[in-house]
Amino acid sequence: MADFKDRLLAEKIVENIKKLASGKKFRFCHICGTHEYSITRHGLRSMLPENVEVVAGPGCPVCITPAAELDKAIKLANEGVILATFGDVVRVPGSSSSLAEARANGALVKIVYGPADAVDLAKNHPDKDVVFFATGFETTAPTTASVILSEPPKNFSSLVVHRTIPPAMEFMVGVGEHRFDGFIAPGHVSTIIGTKPYELFPRTYQMPTVVAGFEPTDVLMSILMLIKQIRDKDYKVENEYTRLVTEEGNPKALAAMDRAFETVGDNWRGIGRIPDSALHIREEYSDYDANKKYDIDIGKVQELDPKCSCHLVIVGKLYPKDCTMFAKACTPQRPRGPCMVSNEGTCSIAYRYGRD
Ligand code: SF4
Repeated sequence: MADFKDRLLAEKIVENIKKLASGKKFRFCHICGTHEYSITRHGLRSMLPENVEVVAGPGCPVCITPAAELDKAIKLANEGVILATFGDVVRVPGSSSSLAEARANGALVKIVYGPADAVDLAKNHPDKDVVFFATGFETTAPTTASVILSEPPKNFSSLVVHRTIPPAMEFMVGVGEHRFDGFIAPGHVSTIIGTKPYELFPRTYQMPTVVAGFEPTDVLMSILMLIKQIRDKDYKVENEYTRLVTEEGNPKALAAMDRAFETVGDNWRGIGRIPDSALHIREEYSDYDANKKYDIDIGKVQELDPKCSCHLVIVGKLYPKDCTMFAKACTPQRPRGPCMVSNEGTCSIAYRYGRD
């Protein structure tokens, strides 16, 4: 049963969804861990009619950070650098261990709120090398870029694993038999990139796209807007989250990202290489690129535990409860896959709030 403040409004939107969706099946995809939280936490799937389904795409940054990059961070930490990163990254399993295990064995792994804290660590420990393990999408990339552009101390560098959302959405368009009828685009990322990068989806793929906020009524309204576009055969990008998202996004943040990073193809955990989806430090700032500063030989990589189905969960092919290890061998206390670690991970959210 839903339990949030605009319940009457939500019920009204659901009534309209039922009327407009009647007689046809709809399958929508969101690409955002916070949307998955809102949908599961508030039981929205159980409010929707059976013919309207919403699945989670690869919108959890911790979940899609490749095992090879985690292995590199673990190796650097084990070799004596101060490895600084976000709290939810520390427990994510790499090929055979995690940063938490490295820390338990004496490595200097520090949890920080962002790269500026890592720079402070470098200033306070001039005798040590500090590496900031920079994960996340366009929401966290601008702060990493700003720090790289700010001439931090030479004992600071960053292992950058930033990925960008529109190429992942384009990848999802082609996920074969599990095709989607439209996208709920992520609110946080869109505050940075604006709505323009999504224009490709209706134009090229006739894929309606609605940028949505995170309140339950935002998500439900975005579903209604998507269904209306399909009923009207009027495919476009719409912005449900006008209180924070603009067409242009945040020009300063975009300019910083463009100066510090080049866009290249690279791997997403459980998916593989997605063209033009990764941000790498530009050559002119290579002094701050941990990949160039250190010779990081990590050996053989195991992308996922062979029994973990995260590669299916993150593309909407499997619900967490359908993984044989869910809530048995795999729990937030003992995660066997990356989707069970972060607050934005689909399996972790289902474990905590999986009402539907
Ligand atoms: Fe992987 Fe655990 Fe999720 Fe199964 S429940 S898909 S093992 S993270």
